[in-house]
Amino acid sequence: MSKKEYINIEEIGEFGLIEEIKKLFPDKKRQETVVGIGDDAAVLNMNDQFLTLLSTDNLNEEVHFDLFYTPLKHLGFKSVSVSASDICAMNGEPIGVTVGIALDSRFTVPMVKEFYEGVRIACNKYGIDLIGGDTTGSYKGLFINTSIIGKVEKDRVTYRSGAGPGDLICVTGDLGGAYVGLLIMQREKEVHMEAPQATIKLEGYEYLIERLLKPEARLDVVRMLRELDVVPSAMIDISDGLASDLLHICAASNVGCVIYEEKFPIDPIVYRTALLEFNLNPTTVFLSGGEDYELLFTIPERYGDLFENHPDITIIGKILPKEEGTYMISKSGNKYELTAQGWDAFRKYLRENSNP
Ligand code: ADP
Ligand code: MG
Repeated sequence: MSKKEYINIEEIGEFGLIEEIKKLFPDKKRQETVVGIGDDAAVLNMNDQFLTLLSTDNLNEEVHFDLFYTPLKHLGFKSVSVSASDICAMNGEPIGVTVGIALDSRFTVPMVKEFYEGVRIACNKYGIDLIGGDTTGSYKGLFINTSIIGKVEKDRVTYRSGAGPGDLICVTGDLGGAYVGLLIMQREKEVHMEAPQATIKLEGYEYLIERLLKPEARLDVVRMLRELDVVPSAMIDISDGLASDLLHICAASNVGCVIYEEKFPIDPIVYRTALLEFNLNPTTVFLSGGEDYELLFTIPERYGDLFENHPDITIIGKILPKEEGTYMISKSGNKYELTAQGWDAFRKYLRENSNP
């Protein structure tokens, strides 16, 4: 056995582990496989006009969601959205989704139907079909797997790897809401645990809670880009946090970047709640809060005018040559190196569950 076998997963993290798996499968056996491991979805060449996109995601109880504050209907909706978002991140249209569930003895038929009501609402929203799944038991906990298939015109497919120096960095919607929503829910859970009769206070936080529980894949933006006849040079969906996901684009594209704090789209309620109730710097929340499922993409500079003052899209910076690094310029003009402090399923899980 080589020494390597003793490395803890925590030491290399989720992305390190994916790299290790990828190394075990260095060659492609099928010419249909255009891109396998390493982007938001796999890309398969099945016919002349379109590429097939395929992506799978797991959502596990206590790692990805807490049923204390997650209604099953919302969870069904979110499971489909998270997968549809990966198809959007390739600039594609989702077609069909499979949903696998592993249930423990707590679950009843109405509970499962409630979950699938959320799946149905999401399928209607994205105009896709539920095309299968798998149903099995679990010793303890709810485990959900969604696999989604989509398609994209060959001349519109967008990888993480196409960003070039001078390209503008764009983000859809606003960021940080889902993370602050999570903090609110965790706080209310703690209050409830200590005093079950205390009322849970959620008024005024509706936007934040919706961002956490009911994220929407930005298929509207993918369709708008097609109407504008714009193909981004690179794209990723923001699941782990802006900094982490922007660094994924920079690594895959072999480039650097600069982003400007003054440009960051942060909703006022996200800003206020982070700062006043959790004593958190809204910029940190913007950079590292995950789970918003917005899109991060780069476009050649000539398209810049299209997105100046756009209601759904904000230009936050620029791609640089690799040697210039990856950094943020703060409102006061200081330069900060970007670090990936986003969500990493293993670090979080292992930190909370490891023996001392
Ligand atoms: P996303 O957050 O967009 O779902 P991930 O970070 O989970 O992406 O995965 C990045 C890439 O690594 C994807 O191409 C995915 O298919 C691949 N990947 C992740 N886990 C595994 C695994 N256990 N085996 C093979 N490929 C994996
Ligand atoms: Mg993704």
